[in-house]
Amino acid sequence: MFDYTKKESITYKFSWDQLGDIAIGRENLGAQMPVTVYRLLEYCIKEVLEEDYGKEQMHRIFQKAGIIAGRELAHNLLDLSVDIHTFFGQLQDVLKNMQVGILRVEKIDESTGTIYVTVAEDLDCSGLPVTGETVCFYDEGLIKGVLDTYTNCSYTVEEIDCWSTGARVCRFRANKEA
Ligand SMILES: [Zn+2]
Repeated sequence: MFDYTKKESITYKFSWDQLGDIAIGRENLGAQMPVTVYRLLEYCIKEVLEEDYGKEQMHRIFQKAGIIAGRELAHNLLDLSVDIHTFFGQLQDVLKNMQVGILRVEKIDESTGTIYVTVAEDLDCSGLPVTGETVCFYDEGLIKGVLDTYTNCSYTVEEIDCWSTGARVCRFRANKEA
């Protein structure tokens, strides 16, 4: 596991406006495109990163990119002032509307702060061949980025079930750091 326990350890230049004005730029084709295209990019980059830097660094890089994405998503698309149940409700709506997956909060352990969430029909992995290994490293980071931003705490997020491990949904455990 990669442990970005200090939020200040990641600095980045990316900002939401770098995504551009899709409505102007793609006036005929629009904002949607096939999942195949997304996965083609993702899995070709994954292969290059793994070949050039090894599996562990590939995992770390996807996770780190996910953290940045999660932070920016939280700041730009989510209301951070609401209570946790409302917050997860709006996160669920955003992920569904963006066709990322269907989020469900499975359990929030009030005593430890550990949160379990599942994502069904996940953009990254649903339908992949079963290899026995999880693949949703970007999602681990994204969930961490969102949770860290909302709570102002630091979470370690690990995918514990994935389509590629033979499960029907991805399941993530988010441990709150002390
Ligand atoms: Zn997965």
